[in-house]
Amino acid sequence: MPLYEYVCPQCDTRFEKLRPMTDGVEAQCPRCSTPARRVISLFAAFTRGEAGESRAVAGGGCACSAGGACGCAGE
Ligand SMILES: [Zn+2]
Repeated sequence: MPLYEYVCPQCDTRFEKLRPMTDGVEAQCPRCSTPARRVISLFAAFTRGEAGESRAVAGGGCACSAGGACGCAGE
């Protein structure tokens, strides 16, 4: 089940909920019970970028003469 992040338009509370994909895009705010809209998690996008960067750095350690262009890096 995917984890979604919500922001309440009423009291600005941020909360996360595990919901099935088939569910609607709204969830009830735990503080004031207002239907809150789902938001894209910027934090999740940021951590994915960080992981990609460190993988690229590790790929530079390839021991063959092709210098990473050989495709053996990271295996
Ligand atoms: Zn609220």
